[in-house]
Amino acid sequence: MDPVGIAAAPDAGPGPAWRSKCPWGAPNTTSISCSLADVMSEQLAKELQLEEENAAFPEVVAVDEGPFITGENVDTSSDLMLAQMLQMEFDREYDAQLRREEKKINGDSKVSISFENYRKVHPYDSDSSEDEVDWQDTRHDPYRADKPTTTPRRGFVGKGKDITTKHDEVVCGRKNTARMENFAPEFQVGDGIGMDLKLSNQVFNALKQHAYSEERRSARLHEKKEHSTAEKAVDPKTRLLLYKMVNAGMLETITGCISTGKESVVFHAYGGNATEDKVIPPECAIKVFKTTLNEFKNRDKYIKDDYRFKDRFSKLNPRKIIRMWAEKEMHNLTRMQNAGIPCPQVVSLKKHVLVMSFIGQDQVPAPKLKDVTLSSEDMKKAYYQILNMMQQLYKECNLVHADLSEYNMLWHDGKVWLIDVSQSVEPTHPHGLEFLFRDCRNVSQFFQKGGVAEALNERELFNAVSGLNITADNEVDFQAEIEALEKMNEDHVQNHGKKLSMFSSDGDPPIYDE
Ligand code: ADP
Ligand code: MN
Repeated sequence: MDPVGIAAAPDAGPGPAWRSKCPWGAPNTTSISCSLADVMSEQLAKELQLEEENAAFPEVVAVDEGPFITGENVDTSSDLMLAQMLQMEFDREYDAQLRREEKKINGDSKVSISFENYRKVHPYDSDSSEDEVDWQDTRHDPYRADKPTTTPRRGFVGKGKDITTKHDEVVCGRKNTARMENFAPEFQVGDGIGMDLKLSNQVFNALKQHAYSEERRSARLHEKKEHSTAEKAVDPKTRLLLYKMVNAGMLETITGCISTGKESVVFHAYGGNATEDKVIPPECAIKVFKTTLNEFKNRDKYIKDDYRFKDRFSKLNPRKIIRMWAEKEMHNLTRMQNAGIPCPQVVSLKKHVLVMSFIGQDQVPAPKLKDVTLSSEDMKKAYYQILNMMQQLYKECNLVHADLSEYNMLWHDGKVWLIDVSQSVEPTHPHGLEFLFRDCRNVSQFFQKGGVAEALNERELFNAVSGLNITADNEVDFQAEIEALEKMNEDHVQNHGKKLSMFSSDGDPPIYDE
């Protein structure tokens, strides 16, 4: 599960975006720290966007080109970006100089002049590691130097008129400033020690009060976000993507989370305005493929051996593999749509976020087949519909669902809708027939238990769907024959560069034949 609120995306590093693309910069590994409230705010979304635009983040460009994710991103070849990075460096140096001048002018003076408004670097970018080093040095070193001068137990030091008590304004003021270190780390105490700031007791106490109430407030916020599944589910970059969709008018509002699964989170949204080339459904489902990778490891077998994605798989980093799941779901849904199978209609794909039409009404998703009680008549109707859809899927879409069960079929408008097809494969996938057999077993068991007397058993169903004629009369032998067939096909592909004719009538279909 993603850490609450904040990115789990392994690549979603903090700091200025240019760093992550900087050819000489270190890859970012630290984690961003900001409150959920900030992250959710429009303000931050705008800042993120600004930052992104400033840095001319190449991936954004790639995404804006259209829904198809292209293989490689060009990173450092952009003159614009290099120019911007140089400018940023320049601005940083300018700011450092400004800070030195500010310090010099203010010196020990009680009234200080801030040069903050003259700074060049956007505040969001300013806490880079370089700045942090400066900040820590000035903060800690003077403190160590001051330490021996703090008042000992007896309450005073020195003799005669040089006596200094614990109430001495200067010592006490410095001590108060140093004590601000005990405030919660999120509480920005500034560079008080570096500036040799002397805080009066009154000011210190007020600050302390404020720091504690801030701490409590942030604890409350933290508690709140623990309970919000919707927010738990997505990292800031995903939130930005969603925000952009709303901002662009594609979506009207994102109302909430429908489902949180191991591999994806699904949101409901009201559709926005139609564009010249696209009608947006009134209600949409947004499927966000999780950017935490561990859940996807065991799915390798679906995609690694899928020849449509084979060439790309080896070259891809894990983040891109996750986008590929989203892409795969999009392509598979499109095939199904073209064959007239009831399923969500693809609206848009951006990175790992797939927007499709919502199956259900008024924010209420259609129930899964496992959750709905159908009349025996509807049950029978559903069964025949599914048999039909499985055949269509196999023959017309050249697909095997590979996760077909009562969990991934919705009952809506008096019929069954198929969803969740990111793992679907072509029948010639090295394990395609095994997946099909598993699907058949799920379907057949569900309807036999559900009292549909006509329901074929899994072996009959398998033959009916695939058009193959496996005669084994028990499951073990049947499965052995399936595996033998798969092996034969693999060997045939190895030797002849194409599949067995029994699988596909007309050789290899093109990779993107939608
Ligand atoms: P996964 O099972 O991999 O998490 P699914 O695609 O099955 O992802 O989606 C999870 C749940 O979200 C579904 O069981 C369904 O309840 C809901 N859901 C997904 N897509 C839609 C949609 N287009 N319309 C309505 N509900 C949907
Ligand atoms: Mn599912």
